[in-house]
Amino acid sequence: MLHPDPFATRALLGDDAAVARRAITGEIGVSLPPLADHHVHGHLVDLDAVAAGGIAAVVDLGGDPTALFRERRAMPHRDYAGAFLTAPGGYPAGRGWAPAAIVREVTGHAGGGAPGSAETAVDEQAEFGASLIKVALNADGGPVLDAETLRAIVSRARERGLPVVAHVQGAGMTRVALDAGVDVLAHTPFSETVDGDLLDAILRSGQAWISTLAIHDGADLPRAGDNLGRFAAAGGRVLYGTDLGNGAQPFGVNPGEVRLLQGAGLDGPAIVAALTDPWPRAEPLHGVATFVPGPPPASSSEVPDWLAGARVVPTEELVPDDR
Ligand SMILES: [Zn+2]
Repeated sequence: MLHPDPFATRALLGDDAAVARRAITGEIGVSLPPLADHHVHGHLVDLDAVAAGGIAAVVDLGGDPTALFRERRAMPHRDYAGAFLTAPGGYPAGRGWAPAAIVREVTGHAGGGAPGSAETAVDEQAEFGASLIKVALNADGGPVLDAETLRAIVSRARERGLPVVAHVQGAGMTRVALDAGVDVLAHTPFSETVDGDLLDAILRSGQAWISTLAIHDGADLPRAGDNLGRFAAAGGRVLYGTDLGNGAQPFGVNPGEVRLLQGAGLDGPAIVAALTDPWPRAEPLHGVATFVPGPPPASSSEVPDWLAGARVVPTEELVPDDR
């Protein structure tokens, strides 16, 4: 093949993209920082296959804290929330995919170590190695945490140095999450339009949104795409995430999710930024990088399928080839 043009590659994919060669095989391709899926459920998928598909880091947003603690793994690197914290009888308690071990029904905020309290629930996840806390605010089909209990969860998470991620569904829940100080939404808001004062307040707060566009159909899909487009255009921090385990999805980079991000107006550099954001870690993973073998994409329409060819490789195996 012709030697790839490093300038065209950076124009299409951002400054973190570089033409590179694998030291051992001599294979030419493009290197990127390690890729992350910021929303998975590891108890429902084969994480080895996810790593083989080019994802170096995952964020598990709802699982059994005991199992997650016991099964610490090297690749993909896994941050996790532990169990979903929710209202008694609230989502996802009782759902077929959500065994009791992955849900904590929080009954109040008595403080101290009261069983079922917000404080106890947060402490349990932290003790089992969680690096974030997940709350469910799903208004349709079950009760939702009251504002005081939600605040107690966020407050305890702050004390433990953990960010809080919320699953938000139903009228007004995006506002409830913002008012409680939630740091990240597990899904781009899909059940309500976010604009005007609410969007401005979210942007001022620095709240980030995990994309998960491809899980939707019907009216939720264009609504989420529209919300994400305006959020991103105004400078909002977008984290690539698929809710892997929810429905049939490819392991590795999901070209369908990338295509929907493009449809929402994100360009190549913005999509690479969403895929390589180290959140919830402050620093990117050390020692590994992404290598996409073969010629770089010739145009943005080729980017989604091209990204699906990503592989995780040791950083030391890549030699810059920007000639
Ligand atoms: Zn999820």
